[in-house]
Order: sequence, then structure tokens, then C-alpha cells
Amino acid sequence: MTNILISGASIAGTATAYWLRRHGHTVTVVERAPSIREGGYKVDIRGAALEVVERMGLLDAIRARSTDMRVATHYDAKGRPVATLDADLFGGRLGDDVEIMRGDLNELLYDLTRDDVEYVFDDSVTGIAEDGTVTFERSAPRTFDLVVGADGAHSNTRRIAFGEESRFARDLGYYISICTVPNTLGLDREEAVHAAVGRTANVYSTRQDTGAKALFMWSSAPLAYDHRDVAGQKELLARAMDGVGWQVPALLEGVRDAKDFYFDSVSQIHMDRWSTGRVVLVGDAGYCASPASGQGTSLALVGAYVLAGELATGGGTDGYERELRPFVAANQALGPANVKGMVMGSRAALWFQLRMMRLLPHLPGRDRMVERITGPIARAADAISLKNYME
Ligand SMILES: Cc1cc2nc3c(=O)[nH]c(=O)nc-3n(C[C@H](O)[C@H](O)[C@H](O)COP(=O)(O)OP(=O)(O)OC[C@H]3O[C@@H](n4cnc5c(N)ncnc54)[C@H](O)[C@@H]3O)c2cc1C
Repeated sequence: MTNILISGASIAGTATAYWLRRHGHTVTVVERAPSIREGGYKVDIRGAALEVVERMGLLDAIRARSTDMRVATHYDAKGRPVATLDADLFGGRLGDDVEIMRGDLNELLYDLTRDDVEYVFDDSVTGIAEDGTVTFERSAPRTFDLVVGADGAHSNTRRIAFGEESRFARDLGYYISICTVPNTLGLDREEAVHAAVGRTANVYSTRQDTGAKALFMWSSAPLAYDHRDVAGQKELLARAMDGVGWQVPALLEGVRDAKDFYFDSVSQIHMDRWSTGRVVLVGDAGYCASPASGQGTSLALVGAYVLAGELATGGGTDGYERELRPFVAANQALGPANVKGMVMGSRAALWFQLRMMRLLPHLPGRDRMVERITGPIARAADAISLKNYME
């Protein structure tokens, strides 16, 4: 295989482009957006993914742009602080793990690849024929040896090659919404959280961010809505948060003017195979673990490394599946487990969680408790031994 098309220029797409180039392929990336998508939320890079970015020579640059978050404080409905935790403990980060804004990471990956990868923006694949002919919305048809779908949880490539999303999506029973809001709380590398039964609101401001990001999660049966109707989605969010106290009404005011409003169900993608014919999926397109896993970015980085490495060393797509499946399974298992700790299902569970957070720094078994929070994610993040494909 020499001539490879990647659909999607986010984390999975740009990282795959990098590794395919390193192995000597010619790479084209088609991205639906008019440019690399800036901004977004903060994401974590942990475990094996740290090794991948180190092998890309990016680790220092990532650390230099880390969010540098200090603390997370839980507030009650009247705005009284209930518990304050170290930001790394709150985010489930240990040791060398690093948190960065998704947009900053995407920019670093793009800058690393832009000189020797062809990027085509503002376009999308419309068809992939068995002989490798690919048709596009705007560009003329071209022929590729392989098409890599790195176009996210709602992947267009997956729909074309494997079928409708409903066959692969597993709804975890929650929704998530996130956008930029004014930093009215004056947060400085700090996260403020309020949890009500079934609904959680969170606002944070990272290093060098003059604004803040508001993030809402709530439990809900599947909602019917139009994916293009942002005003309608803001209305669904306002309804879901109706009656929640603390700063939530003020945050919702800020949401009204947000230009970067994100709204989606908390869902995973499960597939028996990630490849068919000349198409293979990487990142959220093939194995989205949901934002609740905290491991989507690391999965995309490790997936990109393993896919390109297996293709280069003769393992092919079978090798990719064999090497990556256990890692994906371990990380996907985090999603349903974590989400229950992010949105509390009952008054009793909420009371218990806040009490534990308040007492944690003073408990005799503190280390054991901390291990219960960070252990599962750390083990999943390290659940692969990376081969050295460059030797
Ligand atoms: C609110 C939220 C919070 C998150 N928090 C975390 C976290 O704390 N830690 C963590 O590790 N992960 C987190 N994630 C997940 C993480 O962002 C993704 O798992 C990660 O970015 C890998 O995604 P990807 O590159 O596979 O897909 P995406 O980032 O979804 O990118 C898909 C790309 O494909 C493009 N595209 C879509 N359709 C087409 C098309 N038809 N043609 C061409 N291009 C197309 C899109 O524009 C986009 O650039 C979070 C996600 C969300 C939504």
C-alpha cells in the first residue's frame, strides 16, 4: 500500500497521517471543516499514549501547553464550597499523565504533518468503490490503495463501508453539552462543579484561557432532535437543567451566545471488525469509548500508531485488530463505570460522594481510596505493550 486517504483531520486522523508518513506512504487527508478545528475541551493523554507522543517527538511541546489545572471544587446548590480536590486526582491523572486542550493537541499534530501530507479541507467522501476509486463532494474522484476512516463517532466512512450508525452505537443513557462561556466566576486554572440528582454542571478555565468552558451532563432517555438545529439543542439543555441551583442559570445565559456549542449523547461504538475491503477505521470512528471514559484521545493516538505500524510490518489489518482489541476493550469498559460517578443517580449516592470527597484528605485509608479512583483508568491506559515498528 502506498497511496492512502484518511477521512478526518482531528486527533486520530493527523496522528495516523504522521505514522503512515514515517513508514513511507503517501498520505492525503480530507477534512469536512474548512480548517483544523480549534478550541474544544480539555483531554487527557495517559499511559501508552504518552509513549506514542514521545516517539513522535511531541511530548515536551504537549507539556508546554498543558492546561496546568490546580484544583476542582464542588459547590452546593446555594454556592457554598463542599469539597476541594487536587485537579489531577479529580481528573484521574497520575504521574506523567498530561491534560491539554483538544484544539492545542490537534494543532501540534497538524503542524507536525502539514509539510509532507496533503490536506484537503472543506470536503467529504461520498463513495468508495471496490477498486479504490473514491468520490468526493467537491474534489474530482481519485484512486487510493486504502481509506482510513478517522472521522469520529458519527463517522461518514463507517456509514459508507459498514452501514448505519445505529448498528454500532451503544447509548450509555446520558447527554453531554459543552461550550465557551464568559469566565464570570473568575476561575484561574480551576474547575467548579455542582451536582444535582441526574444532572451535573461543571465550569473551568485553563492556563491562558481568558474565557471558561461550561460542561453539562445529565441522564436521559434518547432525545429526538435535529443535528443542525443548535438553538433547539440549547433549548433541550436548558430544559434538562431547569431547577438546578448554584451558578447554572447564569451559565445557561452564557450558553445562549456560545458559537462553539457541542451537544451529543454519551455513546460508544462497538464493532466486530474495524476493516472491510480497502477501508479501515481508527479512533472514535471504530471504537469510541465516550467522553466519560476520559480515554478517547489516548485510544486515538495508540490506535494510529498500531494501525500504521502493523500495516508497515506485515501484520496488516488483522495485526491491527489483534494488537489493539484488548486495549480498546479495557478502555471502553471505563465509560459506563465512570459516567455513574459523574452524574449521580440518587440523593443518597450524591450525599455519599460529596461526603467522601470532603473527608478524603483526612481519611486513614486515603491512598486506598485514591487508588480506587485512579487505578482502573491507569491500568486501562497501560493495557498494551507497544511494539517498536520502526526497527
Ligand atoms: C465533550 C467531550 C469531552 C471529551 N473529553 C475527553 C477527555 O477528557 N479525555 C479524552 O481522552 N478524550 C475526551 N474526549 C474524546 C476525544 O475528544 C476523542 O475521543 C478524540 O478526539 C479522538 O477522536 P477522533 O480523532 O477519533 O475523532 P474526532 O475528534 O471526533 O474527529 C473527527 C474529525 O473528522 C471530521 N469529520 C467528520 N465528518 C467528516 C466527513 N464526512 N468528512 C471529513 N471529515 C469529517 C471532523 O470534523 C473531525 O475533525 C472528549 C470528547 C468530547 C466530545
